[in-house]
Amino acid sequence: LRKQEISVEQLTEGIFAGDKTFLSKAITLLESSNPNHFEKANAIIEKCLAKPNSSIRIGITGVPGVGKSSFIEVFGKALTGLGKKVAVLAVDPTSSLSKGSILGDKTRMESLSKDTNAFIRPSPSGDSLGGVARKTRESIILCEAAGFDTILVETVGVGQSETVVHSMVDFFLLLKLSGAGDELQGIKRGIMEMADAIAINKADGHNLEKAKLAETEFRRALHLYPPKKNGWTPKVIRCSAMDNTGIREIWSMIQDFVERTKVNDHFETNRKEQNKNWFLQTVDQQLMHFFYQKDSFKTQQAKMLKDVVDSKISPFYAAKTLLDGLKKELK
Ligand code: GDP
Repeated sequence: LRKQEISVEQLTEGIFAGDKTFLSKAITLLESSNPNHFEKANAIIEKCLAKPNSSIRIGITGVPGVGKSSFIEVFGKALTGLGKKVAVLAVDPTSSLSKGSILGDKTRMESLSKDTNAFIRPSPSGDSLGGVARKTRESIILCEAAGFDTILVETVGVGQSETVVHSMVDFFLLLKLSGAGDELQGIKRGIMEMADAIAINKADGHNLEKAKLAETEFRRALHLYPPKKNGWTPKVIRCSAMDNTGIREIWSMIQDFVERTKVNDHFETNRKEQNKNWFLQTVDQQLMHFFYQKDSFKTQQAKMLKDVVDSKISPFYAAKTLLDGLKKELK
């Protein structure tokens, strides 16, 4: 940023004009921990929220090495080829630990990152998954205001990151590899339940037969789950980023999903529900932040913690005393 700071109006105009440089700058603001930037970013988000759009948000998850970036590169190119504008965001809760994100890295999606109709942003860093999630959620809004109609949110699936990404997208795609017939082992149950589709990736060459077996096995397993509230039956599709197969099918499937869930109103209901949850979670986070940064709270908590460890006071009584003290202070 130059010395002369760019105003909220300039940034918003730039975003509305679809300028990726302005979009990047605005995202940098909302990712910043500087309180002044926070105010500015909020003002931009408010303006962007007011701009109507009809985007589709797709979550993509899978273990490292499953081929997420190769898939997104090919899938993204197919979409821009159809005239779509594609934004790729990422939620990587480890990015603060490794001091650099392993997801959404531009160098991994070389041709997509050069595409004028694509925008790729690596995962924001943060000291909590909640913080990373908030930033990604807000980035989605800015990308949509900049005219990106297809938002891909990638996650590596560490801890709760899949759940968090699932809570910000319309469609959730799980990438899997075929193995030695034990595909269902080691898969977190919750993830199968969240998936709107499972793509058996790297279904090419010697892998093709194994991939077909895996497809049958996953299809059978999905039947055992109760029907989804949105009326959609999760699909299993084979694909290969290398051979460029299954990619178009995945897009048609997603379009079919959007069409059906728009007809049965689930699309809108889901977004409303997501907004409701984001509001409630934000209130929770900010309340915690408000208290945790208070000096009186910190001192009191440290004292209580020592007393609890020394068994001078019960954990429950300590918590109550601490919070009662705060309540008095607020009156
Ligand atoms: P990520 O860690 O999930 O992002 O996985 P990458 O996209 O980096 O891919 C991991 C490895 O799998 C790389 O060596 C890719 O070349 C390879 N790979 C990715 N997609 C395919 C595919 O469709 N077929 C085959 N055979 N290999 C692939």
